[in-house]
Amino acid sequence: MRTPLIAGNWKMNGSTELVEAFGQAFSSAVLPNSLEAAIFPPYPYLGAARAAFAESPLALGAQTLNPHPAGAHTGEVSGPMLREFGVQYALVGHSERRQLYRESDEQVHERLLAALEVDIVPVLCVGESLAERDAGHTLQVVLHQVGYVMSRLEPAQRERVIIAYEPVWAIGTGRTATPEQAQEVMAGIRAYLAEFDRGLADGLRLLYGGSMNAGNAAELLAQPDIDGGLVGGASLKVDDFLAICQSA
Ligand code: PGA
Repeated sequence: MRTPLIAGNWKMNGSTELVEAFGQAFSSAVLPNSLEAAIFPPYPYLGAARAAFAESPLALGAQTLNPHPAGAHTGEVSGPMLREFGVQYALVGHSERRQLYRESDEQVHERLLAALEVDIVPVLCVGESLAERDAGHTLQVVLHQVGYVMSRLEPAQRERVIIAYEPVWAIGTGRTATPEQAQEVMAGIRAYLAEFDRGLADGLRLLYGGSMNAGNAAELLAQPDIDGGLVGGASLKVDDFLAICQSA
């Protein structure tokens, strides 16, 4: 059985007030027994979030990390620093990083290794653009992104990865993939992973991301190959994020 994970990616949003609100709400919330929930706030809020979430089931995630442990990289934050703040997960290769900051598959791979190096669980984000979907290249694009990284890892490293399938056209657009569309691609990812190892494919967690909200989460999460969600916009509202967690 794969433990569901609901991950809230705040992107460049949030405030200390929001951190406090989440800490309070989740300290008394009733969540499903076997659920992991995590918030990925901007870096400056990690310290406050660690304190505010201490009595809650919320774990902490980072939105990216620099591949190097330390050094002359002005503006960057490293894995060991995140570890010191209790960070347990890190997104790598989010489509906004790939597009806006030109992160290549190779850089995504380096960041993922940097996370594993300090025992942070990497959440590898993959997904096709609308043009790629319309051209019928969805699975080819997604499996290339997955394969570039997974084929460069040792078997023991692969097992520690979480993959988030986020169709780019569904991110922040309000246009969610249908449960069938999401399931189809995620079954394709799992079948591809089985080429490495059946046990890997059965155990690795696959998250769906892209306009997931309190209204559509249950239906998406009910799909056999969807083990959780990577939630952007709806993770900025306590009640919505709580409702998504409760529907897992
Ligand atoms: P969204 O973002 O839920 O606002 O579409 C998801 C993401 O980018 O992780």
